[in-house]
Amino acid sequence: MARAQLIHIEVDRRLGHEWDEWNGRPLPRGGDFSAPPGLFFRFAALTVAVGAGAVALLLYLIGPRLRTLWAPLPVIQWMALGALAGLFWAYLAVLAASYYSGRNLLPERLMERGLYLKLMNYTSLLARAFGKRDWVEHAAIDVYNTLAERRGRKVGKGELLVLIPRCLSKQSLDGVLEIAGRYDVPVFVATRGQLARRVIRERRPRAVVAVACERDMMTGLRDVAGKLPVLGLTMQLPNGPCRDASIDLSQMEKWVQGLVNGQVARQ
Ligand code: SF4
Repeated sequence: MARAQLIHIEVDRRLGHEWDEWNGRPLPRGGDFSAPPGLFFRFAALTVAVGAGAVALLLYLIGPRLRTLWAPLPVIQWMALGALAGLFWAYLAVLAASYYSGRNLLPERLMERGLYLKLMNYTSLLARAFGKRDWVEHAAIDVYNTLAERRGRKVGKGELLVLIPRCLSKQSLDGVLEIAGRYDVPVFVATRGQLARRVIRERRPRAVVAVACERDMMTGLRDVAGKLPVLGLTMQLPNGPCRDASIDLSQMEKWVQGLVNGQVARQ
């Protein structure tokens, strides 16, 4: 059976800083943060409402001062805020309609490779305040992957790259290498997001399949997905963060196979 070459890059930085505040206790549900997409949409709607509310409060507070500058100014600002909030709500509605109808209603630059990436990150910030970060991020990444996968992108030989973290269990790592070997795809171990970006800059792939926990994946997608098509596979963390992570290998193979479709797999 063909096996991919593993290229390991060392970096002298602290690892897994996203989990700095972890208290050492087992993660809920064995580190499986699966959540329905509706959770993301509910938190995204709340994020838009909280954002609009914060700006409204600011306008309310500075309204009298604005009026001294130019009497109609506060009214104009309120109208602008109303229009902007309406646009955001409409965007969210189109996003949800795209996801649930099975048909992307906007081009990728306006959706999963555009504003959606920002919305994901702001929604994650709000979810942290409710102690729901990992679940909301998982749901957001699932929505992202569904929209991205539907584009049906194909790449040529040598144009796909698989990025994995250092925390995969031996079984998962073996599985990844086997899949990558079968489709002749290079695998990089990226210990930090910064390093992942460096690998991408140097190898110049046309698509990436990345593996990471929800926290790491969010920053990775935010930084890379706008420039390059990425599919992001999240992991389960049965032994806590940054160790012995497992992944859905059949999902990974499905993505790799879909992207390199037309190329013959090695036996
Ligand atoms: S991807 Fe793995 S090593 Fe990186 S922060 Fe997440 S759990 Fe830790």
